[in-house]
Amino acid sequence: MPEAARYRKVDLHTHSTCSDGHFSPAELVDLAVEQSVSLFALTDHDTLDGLPEARLRAAEHGLSFINGVELSTQWNGIPLHMVALNFSADNPALLSIVEGNQAIRLDRARRIADLLVKQGLPDLFDEAVALAGNSQLGRPHFASLLVEKCFVKDANKAFDRYLGNKKLGQLRDVWPELEQVLSALADEDMALVLAHPKRYPLTVTKLKRLLSDFKKWGGTGIEIVSGNERPDSVRLLERLTREFDLKASVGSDYHGPFGPWMQVGKFTQIHEGEVDLVWQTWSSI
Ligand code: AMP
Ligand code: MN
Ligand code: MN
Ligand code: MN
Repeated sequence: MPEAARYRKVDLHTHSTCSDGHFSPAELVDLAVEQSVSLFALTDHDTLDGLPEARLRAAEHGLSFINGVELSTQWNGIPLHMVALNFSADNPALLSIVEGNQAIRLDRARRIADLLVKQGLPDLFDEAVALAGNSQLGRPHFASLLVEKCFVKDANKAFDRYLGNKKLGQLRDVWPELEQVLSALADEDMALVLAHPKRYPLTVTKLKRLLSDFKKWGGTGIEIVSGNERPDSVRLLERLTREFDLKASVGSDYHGPFGPWMQVGKFTQIHEGEVDLVWQTWSSI
């Protein structure tokens, strides 16, 4: 493995104001440069809107920039996030999935608002749409409104009490199937990465079943570290990366300056020499 590929500071999972992040794409790139990141991807939820601005600012700094997006999908009824990386922003299959997911987001928000009304809360749909503006409408907007209106103390509580996957049980099966998304996108250049595998309600046995499907349907890699990952989780995911003949990706999943740990480019160290890395074969960097 070339030394340059091994020891770069890489962050391939971040969010801007185009989805539910705190900083604009350009501000995020500035932060990445401040943190000495040398390979950076913007991966907003279900939108490519921030990519041109981020790419332009990255070019001004001489920072290697990779197009990215975090797609909402599902597998066996479980919502899963998949980070697509290193694609051309006019890829028709990708644009079609992104557009489909944006329509789902609007429809899902209506249904979330209705479920909250059933629990005695006011109808927050219009305010959520207004709050989201041009960014991708999602549960964080409902969480902000619930905090602002003092129904809960913070966003975490809003997810615990109202917005978590368990609480929104009736909203199963909204996202496109993982198989459909992977088979539509699989090509040689684009990397398809299972985001934060430890954040799903899966036993190791089930996670292995997922990884087997993921590989079979054209997936490229696993995010073996996503922000503040426990070292034993990283070890497990490194093992699974090798076992399923996948590649490793890394990212902070940075959304903004909340909490003590999170920073662009900052996450638990991985053992780079022991796994193949998604970015190793990219010719553009
Ligand atoms: P959505 O894309 O609408 O399904 O919303 C998912 C987003 O909500 C995630 O990407 C996180 O940014 C955020 N989120 C998920 N769980 C929590 C939580 N417990 N507290 C705060 N934000 C959360
Ligand atoms: Mn998010
Ligand atoms: Mn995610
Ligand atoms: Mn994310």
